[in-house]
Amino acid sequence: MKLGTAESAPGDVATGYLSVTELPTGQSEQVPVVVVDGEKPGPTIWVTGTIHGDEPTGMEAIHEFVDRIRDEPLAGAVVCIPVMNPSGLRTNARTSYYGGEDPNRYFGIEGGDGETPPSVQQLICDRVYEEIKASADAVISLHTSWIATYPYTIRPRVSYGERREETAARELRDRLVELVDAFGLPAVNQFGHDETTQRSLDHTLTGAAIGDGIPAFTPELGGRFVVEKDVCEAAVVGLQNVLYASGMVSEPAAARMAFELPAEDNLKRLVHPHTDTAGVVRYRVREGEWVEPGQVVADIVTPTGETETEVRVEHPGYVLSRYEGVAVYENDPLLDMAVPDDEPLLRKSHD
Ligand SMILES: [Zn+2]
Repeated sequence: MKLGTAESAPGDVATGYLSVTELPTGQSEQVPVVVVDGEKPGPTIWVTGTIHGDEPTGMEAIHEFVDRIRDEPLAGAVVCIPVMNPSGLRTNARTSYYGGEDPNRYFGIEGGDGETPPSVQQLICDRVYEEIKASADAVISLHTSWIATYPYTIRPRVSYGERREETAARELRDRLVELVDAFGLPAVNQFGHDETTQRSLDHTLTGAAIGDGIPAFTPELGGRFVVEKDVCEAAVVGLQNVLYASGMVSEPAAARMAFELPAEDNLKRLVHPHTDTAGVVRYRVREGEWVEPGQVVADIVTPTGETETEVRVEHPGYVLSRYEGVAVYENDPLLDMAVPDDEPLLRKSHD
């Protein structure tokens, strides 16, 4: 297999770089690649990390994962891009510095916007995604969320009608559910359909891959900036178990990690509640806790310490993340939650 400067033969682990655009300073922008090429034929699984430059856990999980599988007899291949956003990594920032764009909103977009040609960030995404699409049987896009996050996996919604038949969509959904289950973190379905569209989440790497019929999911490996070792280890074990579920290795990883949301059967992401009052937030709950409708989850206080208001939730569910920073403005979000899902994971496309 050849990817950029990484060239592997069966049984090899090859590392190298894939050039994705030219820089004004005369060098190329390059993403690092690691190819673990199995001795026997089998599926090709892509694992990507750090597309948000302030999310180092995916990169470290990939390094450790490759170390664990490099001497295993492997059927198929694992292709890793530990750092999808080198410019963001250089600056410890979520976005790339080419126009400050979120790189994870530019996958699977055809061409430019009217008269405007595609931005350099879109070109980079196109070039990487072309390689992914050519060989991927599954894609795992490793992320982290806010500081103070309970680890979970986002399961994208699958649609049929426009781009595939219902039977094919059902198979894709079943494979997706199977792989997310093998990965082992609590599964939380993507936002509802309208919210997903509004946030351009069909053009994340995972959203684009699902659109192209490739099973893909997004683990959120705890909080950003710092690698949480226990969550990183859960990801390494999860990746090994995805290989096992794909028939690529003969043994599952020894331990499954104990991150659980017990009522995890059918939950979806929701940003809720928001505060209608500016002030300083004091949370009464933390990540991983279950909350009931009407429960006060935060107080908004003045800088002199008086309570301005109490913020309650309207939905039952788990707290996935508390938002970062204590200063809040009108209608700022306070929590990412996992709430009972009222939409099916598989749906007919109405677009
Ligand atoms: Zn991210």
